[in-house]
Amino acid sequence: MIPFNKPYLTGKEMHYMYQAVYSGKISGNGLFTRKCQDFFEQRYGFKKALLTTSCTDALEMCAILADIKPGDEVIVPSYTFVSTALAFVRQGAKVVFVDSRKDHPGIDEDIIEEYVTHKTKAIVPVHYAGVACDMDKIMNIAAKYNLLVIEDAAQAIESYYKDRPLGSIGHMAAFSFHETKNINAGEGGLLAINDERFIKRSEIIWEKGTNRAEFFRGEVNKYGWCDTGSSFLPSEIIAAYLWAQLENLGDIQQKRTKIWQQYYIGLKDWAKAHEVRLPTTPDYAVQNGHMFYLVCNSVKQREQIIQALKEKDILAVFHYLSLHKSKYYNDIHGGRELPNSDNYSDKLVRLPLFYELSQQDVENIMDVIKNI
Ligand SMILES: *Cc1c(COP(=O)(O)O)cnc(C)c1O
Repeated sequence: MIPFNKPYLTGKEMHYMYQAVYSGKISGNGLFTRKCQDFFEQRYGFKKALLTTSCTDALEMCAILADIKPGDEVIVPSYTFVSTALAFVRQGAKVVFVDSRKDHPGIDEDIIEEYVTHKTKAIVPVHYAGVACDMDKIMNIAAKYNLLVIEDAAQAIESYYKDRPLGSIGHMAAFSFHETKNINAGEGGLLAINDERFIKRSEIIWEKGTNRAEFFRGEVNKYGWCDTGSSFLPSEIIAAYLWAQLENLGDIQQKRTKIWQQYYIGLKDWAKAHEVRLPTTPDYAVQNGHMFYLVCNSVKQREQIIQALKEKDILAVFHYLSLHKSKYYNDIHGGRELPNSDNYSDKLVRLPLFYELSQQDVENIMDVIKNI
């Protein structure tokens, strides 16, 4: 059987977790947490990196830092994971859904401005499949209307926009280390801060509304309750696991992008002949081999592909259901149509892509598809 995803173990995870457990410092913000955070700050140039227990948590921290309040509006794509919207809805915001691009599931940058009102506080682009949104366009709109940009970079580690790492362009960004992502910690995430104004408060929100991080650096001689917040930091055991993954980032990325290329080259002619679209990577983007998907020409064609693979014990899966039509938000959204988002909900299918997928597996998967 070929699963859709299989979390990869580098081999060092248990070793570092053992070290963390026996170090006597198992709670968060210890040695492994700092190693991971330093890695992100140095490699991607984030002004501040904070490990969180999930990307959802990191997005919630962004919503707090952006001071989102009831009555505010936040612009998000509809074709995304629930957390992109939920983090802001929990702070009382109304999310305003914007459609996907025709050529790509990412937010249509060219129509964002139509949805900016005097209530808009932030834009949350999602780098779907690790493919960059057109960040210059988005940052220009944000500058014009004085909005914050919060990148949902959950899938976007080691992806670039015009040579700039994703997550380093918006005012803040959130990454995920869920087991389905390129780098995993089971559950885990990262908040990246690029605008210095938010650094000090981010540490306080991270540590239950206290200035404990400052205290541990010896900058104050006692710590206490300063602000809102929660327990957003993971334990050292999770950071230790994550560190083993980060040490092997290069190897993992090389493997995944190679599999992605094999699919792309192998399916190109078939896709053209069958009116199936392969992933689009705009010139300004370098993607990270997070996902390989097909956009079928009909719901029926997608069903045939999923079914044919299933018969050979290969698991291919579709992805998001448009959030503007979700049970939770449908009424608030109103009836405004987002046809491109719905199109991806109906016709996009993801093929297996994980470190241990062999070249032969990929050949077999492609043969099944081509023989339908
Ligand atoms: C995976 C994902 C999330 C959620 O990440 P968690 O770490 O599971 O909270 C949010 N947004 C997008 C786009 C994702 O792919």
